[in-house]
Amino acid sequence: MEYKNLEIWFLTGAQLLYGGDAVVAVDTHSNEIVKGLNASGKLPLKVIYKGTANSSAEVAKAFADAGNDDKCAGVITWMHTFSPAKMWIQGLKNYKKPLLHLHTQYNEQIPWSEIDMDFMNLNQSAHGDREFGHIVSRMRKPRKVVVGYWKDAVTQDKIATWMRVCTAWADAQSLRIIRFGDNMNNVAVTDGDKVEAEIRLGYHVDNAPIATLVPYVNAVTEKEIDDLIGEYEKHYDFAADCKKGAEKHQYVRDAAAQEIGLRRFLEDKKAKAFTTSFDELEGMKQLMGFASQRLMAEGYGFGAEGDWKTAALVRTMWVMGQGLPCGQSFLEDYTLNFAGENSSILQAHMLEINPEIAANKPRIEVHFLGIGNARTCARLVFQAHPGEGIAATIVDMGNRFRMIVNRVDVIEPQPLPKLPVACALWKPQPNFEIGAGAWILAGGTHHSSFSYSLTVEHMEDYAEIADVELLVIDNNTTIRNFKQDIRNNEMYYLLNKSLQ
Ligand code: MN
Repeated sequence: MEYKNLEIWFLTGAQLLYGGDAVVAVDTHSNEIVKGLNASGKLPLKVIYKGTANSSAEVAKAFADAGNDDKCAGVITWMHTFSPAKMWIQGLKNYKKPLLHLHTQYNEQIPWSEIDMDFMNLNQSAHGDREFGHIVSRMRKPRKVVVGYWKDAVTQDKIATWMRVCTAWADAQSLRIIRFGDNMNNVAVTDGDKVEAEIRLGYHVDNAPIATLVPYVNAVTEKEIDDLIGEYEKHYDFAADCKKGAEKHQYVRDAAAQEIGLRRFLEDKKAKAFTTSFDELEGMKQLMGFASQRLMAEGYGFGAEGDWKTAALVRTMWVMGQGLPCGQSFLEDYTLNFAGENSSILQAHMLEINPEIAANKPRIEVHFLGIGNARTCARLVFQAHPGEGIAATIVDMGNRFRMIVNRVDVIEPQPLPKLPVACALWKPQPNFEIGAGAWILAGGTHHSSFSYSLTVEHMEDYAEIADVELLVIDNNTTIRNFKQDIRNNEMYYLLNKSLQ
């Protein structure tokens, strides 16, 4: 797991007005809540109780510590008693990591026959959390507000979702993306402002000439290739002409050398995502499609044709989804299938789809690829399993980044005997016409990062933390409202700049 060292801090707000006994009780109850959350088994990160903040100085210290501690991926706040919110200003002003405001209460129900003023002095989250919420809104700080009883599974699930996003956010702040070759000539949507991306999202993008990768591939030994072929034989079927001794087996060995060389290169460069280009293959025996498939399954972000934004998002979504079933992948809108209510889009690429989404055992095949200098390439061929998922992208609108998320239903494709690529077939929600129409109106890419495991809520949390625009296309979407949302957002982002 990439985030085994991360933790989330829990900070309780109070004040000293109610006396020492109340402060002790606040502390005891907070401890119990944190223990309960950790014992729920639902949370991907451990919650660390950081005590009660009773003054501006204590709040400032707690947030400064959270900001400076590499292990801390985010802070949860909760107001057990009333906590006058001016005391949160200095701390919040300098705090840049993710924030979750938990609106809960220590006791589940009102103890009708027992409740007295002592109880009321202590249990004030009903108004204390509103006071805190005001100052966060007043300061225009992004945060997630989770409302619910702390022992409820629904509440814990919402915290868990946000925690997953915190891990991806922490990862993105030091994410290095290597590009082998530039953007594919003249393509607009996959390009964008790399400086703004680093400021806003953390993504750092570097170029690497393919010539610097070639020695890594050439240095791979025959023994290393033999071992990796053994791995392949465990996980995949081989087309008859690709098996050991058959005429095309050498191409599979060349692909294995690329995989080993590429992994070493990325490890040396401390990069967790990469892009390739079929125009930039000098010194390589084939396009690194097979290697890209294999590395994506390990959590490397990938984008084709220099698409660094998608490579970064594939990595980010992989981090969010770690440990969840079903998988995710880079995909491209490949070709359309008009069939009334079942109209759908075939998702594929020349080669580079993550085998984690396969319904069947992937099969290694070798075919000629008649584009650029890509030549004859090995690839894993399979079809994705049915199920609901999300497709997401980030585009550069000139004055801001826009994230677009479409809920999609993956359905069973027909066999494609003459198109030897991995693929998925999906119907965008609410249907093909509105789903594809809205995506196009939003200016969305033809590439996307797809996941079965994540939900719109994950992406919503991510957009909130990153403070980027979010457009969601789902069963509630109508074109008229969607267009109005785009117009409204246009105004919001123009005005928002002047407010900050
Ligand atoms: Mn493409």
